[in-house]
Amino acid sequence: MGDRMNLLITEDDKADFLLVESHLKKHGLDIRCRQAASMEDLAAALDEGSWDAVLSDFSIPGMEFRETLALIKERLPNVPIILVSGSIGDEMAVDLLKEGLWDFVLKDNLARLVPALERGLREAAETRARRDAESALQESRATLQSFYDSSSLMMGVAELDGEDIIAVYGNASAGRFFQFGTEKISGRTAIELGIPPEVNRLWLEHIRHCWNEGAPIRFEYEHPAPWGKQWLAATVAFIGEGRRGRPRFSFVAEDITEHKKLEEQLLQSQKIEAIGLLAGGVAHDFNNILSAIVGYAQLTQMKMQEDDPLRSYIEHILESCNRASVLTQSLLAFSRKQPIRLEAIDLNEVIRKFEKFLLRLIREDIAFKTACAKTPLFAMADKGQVEQVLMNLATNARDAMPNGGKLLIETKIATLHQEFIKAHGYGKTGEYAVIEVSDTGTGMDARTRGRIFEPFFTTKESGKGTGLGLSMAYGIVKKHDGFINVYSEPGKGTTFNIYLPLIRVERESEQRKEEDAMPPRGGMETILVAEDDAALRRLNKATLSHFGYTIIEAIDGADAVARFLENREIIRLVILDGIMPKMNGKEAYREIKAMRPELKCIFMSGYSEDIFGKEDL
Ligand code: ADP
Ligand code: MG
Repeated sequence: MGDRMNLLITEDDKADFLLVESHLKKHGLDIRCRQAASMEDLAAALDEGSWDAVLSDFSIPGMEFRETLALIKERLPNVPIILVSGSIGDEMAVDLLKEGLWDFVLKDNLARLVPALERGLREAAETRARRDAESALQESRATLQSFYDSSSLMMGVAELDGEDIIAVYGNASAGRFFQFGTEKISGRTAIELGIPPEVNRLWLEHIRHCWNEGAPIRFEYEHPAPWGKQWLAATVAFIGEGRRGRPRFSFVAEDITEHKKLEEQLLQSQKIEAIGLLAGGVAHDFNNILSAIVGYAQLTQMKMQEDDPLRSYIEHILESCNRASVLTQSLLAFSRKQPIRLEAIDLNEVIRKFEKFLLRLIREDIAFKTACAKTPLFAMADKGQVEQVLMNLATNARDAMPNGGKLLIETKIATLHQEFIKAHGYGKTGEYAVIEVSDTGTGMDARTRGRIFEPFFTTKESGKGTGLGLSMAYGIVKKHDGFINVYSEPGKGTTFNIYLPLIRVERESEQRKEEDAMPPRGGMETILVAEDDAALRRLNKATLSHFGYTIIEAIDGADAVARFLENREIIRLVILDGIMPKMNGKEAYREIKAMRPELKCIFMSGYSEDIFGKEDL
């Protein structure tokens, strides 16, 4: 034995104590013995500290052995206690062993003492080791359990039994999800736990696949939980054989509903953005072509006699051009390329003035009402475009109420908090002017609702709908730094909410003066005109020449600078297109201005935001 052993010997007879001690030492045990000769002495000895074993006489003064045994057992659990006595009856011996005595040795047969002591010590050591292992196991189990139960992921183990998935274990999150206590999950089939059959089939499919392939598998699906649909991402992995050789799986499932919502919104806005770019690009070129047609038609008109019989043809051309232009404006509004004129306007006033017009748009069988907030609702907005949005929403409402109904336009102030943004996945905190447009029409199902802002999405028969109304509204609202949302269900009508950032205005801003009210007079000066589109260049030249000016043409920005250098003495004005190859209008202007700072310049572009910052204009 390694360390010296501490033995407590309860024995009132000193001679017997010495006898036992010397016997043990004689047999080579490295021991330190302490005698406890009375009840008080024993109590003191127990307080003293660590004992490896206790040898006890049957009785010490003041105490029965049974009491001694009970006391020692209580104070020194798992320490071997061996009775060393003169004689002991069999029955008594059996009783004492039952009460926790480890062994007994008769004083006249001390030869048994050493083996008995060694066996007791060995057993005590084994018990200690087993208990340590057990408590370590218990601790690690508790750690794992709290780890599983504190997770927001649903985790568990299940087995496959034919068509049944049988739960073996589920953590607290899984318990909450199934609305079953975790202890009650075990042994139940997925169907019993309330998993709908179609979901059960889906899991079966993936579990089988995972089993065949031998690799974990992840899948996402929409779970029709009783409290609403929920997107889950699940991973299953084969972890060996379970009861009766059934394949056993671990599963982890995560609620990804929030994530999905954001993803869908992102996809949607990207799609709209992409189509917007495309539509905007086409509209841009088409607008140039249209400008040329309009220009030449107007020139022709100017050169015609008042009574020319062809005059009406030109008027028809111009009228058609006007219609085409409205269409491109819609595309541009949607694609956000149309320049907007932001002013501080009171939305209540816009609505009040536009009401009469809207009334004409809808039918008599529709009751139209407006309810404006008591205080003015100022926003930085383009009045024409706000009217456009109202018009689009009103016509949609009209179309959704073929048998009549009610249309209501309300305004109010709303303060958006963080919670709104979290719930909807968009928006910025702050105060907003809200225009709410509700109808009592057919409403929409989720599928339709999810696509209405897509350009060209329409449920109307061909010829009746363009599918541009709401995408336009979306583009316009976006451009105003606002947002638009919809609440609608089949049969329950539809409500659109438009949020525009609210501004505080003391006094209504002054109306802009109309600058182009006076008819053009013309002049004799020389003008440098830079324009990359050949048709527009010719048109500009024709128009300006018509009013008497001399024109020097340039085909791009760099060419404009070169032409200016050649003709710097005679040029009185420069007209530059905003976007041109090689050098854009702004850059060309900088170079020319450096040569003649006082020279005036006019920029021509429908797309001011493309190239000019506010500080340039
Ligand atoms: P369009 O009116 O040309 O079909 P919109 O972009 O204006 O194009 O609308 C797209 C679709 O959205 C409509 O075809 C319709 O299905 C749906 N919708 C729009 N507004 C409403 C409404 N108030 N009630 C029911 N459905 C609507
Ligand atoms: Mg429409």
